[in-house]
Amino acid sequence: MTYPPLSMIINGQRVSGEGRRTHAVVNPATGEVLAELPLASAADLDRALEVAAEGFALWRKAPAQQRAAVLNRAAALLVERQEDLARAATLEQGKTLAETRIEVMMCAGLFQFYAGEVHRIYGRALVRPTGTRSIVTHEPVGPVAAFAPWNFPLGNVGRKLGAPVAAGCSVILKAAEETPASALGVLQCLLDAGLPPQVAQAVFGVPDEVSRHLLGSPVIRKLSFTGSTVVGKHLAKLAADDMKRTTMELGGHGPVLVFADADLQRALDTVVASKYRNAGQVCVSPTRFIVEEPVFDAFVEGFVSRAAAIRVGNGLEEGVQMGPMANARRPEAMERLIGDAVARGAKLHTGGQRIGNAGFFFAPTVLSDVPLDAEIMNEEPFGPVALINRHADADAMIAEANRLPYGLAAYAWTEGHANRARVAAEVEAGMLGINTTMIGGSDSPFGGIKWSGHGHEDGPEGLMACLVTKTIHEA
Ligand code: NAD
Repeated sequence: MTYPPLSMIINGQRVSGEGRRTHAVVNPATGEVLAELPLASAADLDRALEVAAEGFALWRKAPAQQRAAVLNRAAALLVERQEDLARAATLEQGKTLAETRIEVMMCAGLFQFYAGEVHRIYGRALVRPTGTRSIVTHEPVGPVAAFAPWNFPLGNVGRKLGAPVAAGCSVILKAAEETPASALGVLQCLLDAGLPPQVAQAVFGVPDEVSRHLLGSPVIRKLSFTGSTVVGKHLAKLAADDMKRTTMELGGHGPVLVFADADLQRALDTVVASKYRNAGQVCVSPTRFIVEEPVFDAFVEGFVSRAAAIRVGNGLEEGVQMGPMANARRPEAMERLIGDAVARGAKLHTGGQRIGNAGFFFAPTVLSDVPLDAEIMNEEPFGPVALINRHADADAMIAEANRLPYGLAAYAWTEGHANRARVAAEVEAGMLGINTTMIGGSDSPFGGIKWSGHGHEDGPEGLMACLVTKTIHEA
């Protein structure tokens, strides 16, 4: 499989070379350089802003049928190009082909969903005396600056492009420099589907330079960011200077409450697979396993045997269940966080070290009895590590679930109605899975609370996040 050529896409043109700085894109399974990615100059960013302003003026007037047709055609192209897109994503990000194939289908599903939603951007008419009229309408917010990370190189990009395109906005996408081919592949589907080239563009660069430049421009009316809480807070401050609208999808530290009345085998089969998906580099990854005392030993034993059996290897190989971590920073972070936890008294049951001499592989790891002052109990690990602690009762479990300032995804396993009701009412999270880890879907709002961010992607809420409301009163 050859890796596709890299460029930026500004006004539909592939832009590269001409003395621009570059970033080496690395295959995380081998450590080898796949290609050099051109980075934007200030002039490139100014050009993209100028084009985005034109794109907005044009696209906001496009009929719903045209927007929907583009999204539906792009969805069909994604399906047609699924294998090439999935392979490029696995090459540059590491996760297994099975996972990247699903990501392509997630993107296609989201585009199809938004194609339908375009027709449902309804306003309303208020009850007023005859002869007068008050109506509420929704309009596209304006050009969007969208920053997508590397962990879902296709799916995150689909979210960042789909909603603005459906809403009638234009968008400048800066996807992660580590996974550019995936981003370009998704954007190309939209362009090939007939999206006017001014409407969606892709730039790459030094992240801080690009975000300061784009957010410093009055052209941009909305920031959409997925990434860490620390970077999210920084970008939200930049956006505040111009009162730009924001959607922030930030970090999490997924609590999983396992009650004594849980169906333990079903819980284990589900959560272990979910924990090590994408080598744990998932913002909604189940991370802190908060287990009620009577089932603690059986849960740890079942977890460890399943984790130790996971087949780790190059994501392109059939049968591999977990690929490498996405970049050199992640195994380093794992070593630091796990080392700190063990030094403070945590029990290491399996894993805890890198695998092999090439690439960024790290073994599926299980720690138990982890002290609350260990860094890993407070900082998002974003890696293949499960933290399992015992708790006396539901009160203690819910208190632990809510201990951190994050509030993205939370999970609970119980067969009891009382536990379900308490968890649903008391756990602070944007998304809650009870006896399931399937918490996403194109029609279902995805987002967090507290330090995990605000606003949503997916669902009608994802589209609303790209619209502003205008109330018109006529007498
Ligand atoms: P990071 O926080 O520096 O980067 C995260 C993402 O933000 C990357 O895509 C990066 O390109 C982008 N970014 C960084 N600085 C930026 C800036 N000034 N302007 C615009 N974009 C910027 O670090 P990282 O090493 O890539 O990841 C570390 C942590 O980020 C992880 O441990 C995890 O907590 C978090 N993360 C979260 C998600 C998510 O889905 N919420 C995705 C990737 C990373």
